[in-house]
Amino acid sequence: MTLTTRFAPSPTGPLHLGHAFSALLAWDMAERAGGQFLLRIEDIDQSRARTHWEEQIYDDLRWLGLSWPEPVMRQSDRQSAYDTALDHLWNLGLLYPCTCNRKDIAAAASAPQEGAPLLGPDGIVYPGTCRPLSDLDMSKRSERPRGIPLRLNMAAATKQAAASLSGGVACHFVEDGHGLCQETGHITRTTDQMVQTIGDVVLSRRDMGTSYHLSVVVDDADQNITHVVRGADLFDATPIHVLLQLLLGLPTPVYHHHDLIRDDAGKRLAKRDDARAIAKYRQDGLSPADIRKIVGL
Ligand code: GLU
Ligand code: ZN
Repeated sequence: MTLTTRFAPSPTGPLHLGHAFSALLAWDMAERAGGQFLLRIEDIDQSRARTHWEEQIYDDLRWLGLSWPEPVMRQSDRQSAYDTALDHLWNLGLLYPCTCNRKDIAAAASAPQEGAPLLGPDGIVYPGTCRPLSDLDMSKRSERPRGIPLRLNMAAATKQAAASLSGGVACHFVEDGHGLCQETGHITRTTDQMVQTIGDVVLSRRDMGTSYHLSVVVDDADQNITHVVRGADLFDATPIHVLLQLLLGLPTPVYHHHDLIRDDAGKRLAKRDDARAIAKYRQDGLSPADIRKIVGL
């Protein structure tokens, strides 16, 4: 299989140094292996995605010397693929509707008997208010509801996954970069770890009918991505992705999480940090080689 990497930006602001680092790493990895580099526009959040940012992404990446096959995959065109995956998980009895808002969740998670609220990859670990109390009788289940958030029942999902893996683990993947705490190599998570530190994540949001986790998994599989290169801030979400791959019968790529580019004060660069926008460096007369030097490539 051809080594295939991708860069998957969200067109919600200018590309900054951190994005350039990610894109160049993925590009270099494909180049070295005689493989393929793909681009994907992650624009499921239509309230924040803007066409002019998308245009600027293409422009900045070309300026950096990157190229990719057309047409570019855009998540806003792919709802039917996401629906198929959600239907599959719904039919496995692993999703349930949730109408809690942020305030409800914060209140339930900080109830005295709960202890301090735990933070997972998506914020507070969901306290389970809407989770069905007993296993739902599949025959009584109707069609998957639309227009309402759907959560993954993590206990049920990991139990199902663990049944097909050995060693009592619920997920396993190979990390050839590292996470925020330098995790690397063969990474495993048990059912208990996933329930306690991640919990019932939302897989279909009310406003978009999908979620980052669901879309990224379906898209990486459809683009035959063999190596996912991205920032270490997404390492903690990776067990969710690997679990979904198992449940959906999709292959698990190799993951390569990289250091985050920080500013001179050691602070993580935010998208709003326009001073670090590639466009700004271009205006100031820097070259693509200068950008490579700045990010340490
Ligand atoms: N779209 C995500 C971002 O802009 C990247 C997702 C990924 O690489 O998995 O941060
Ligand atoms: Zn709820």
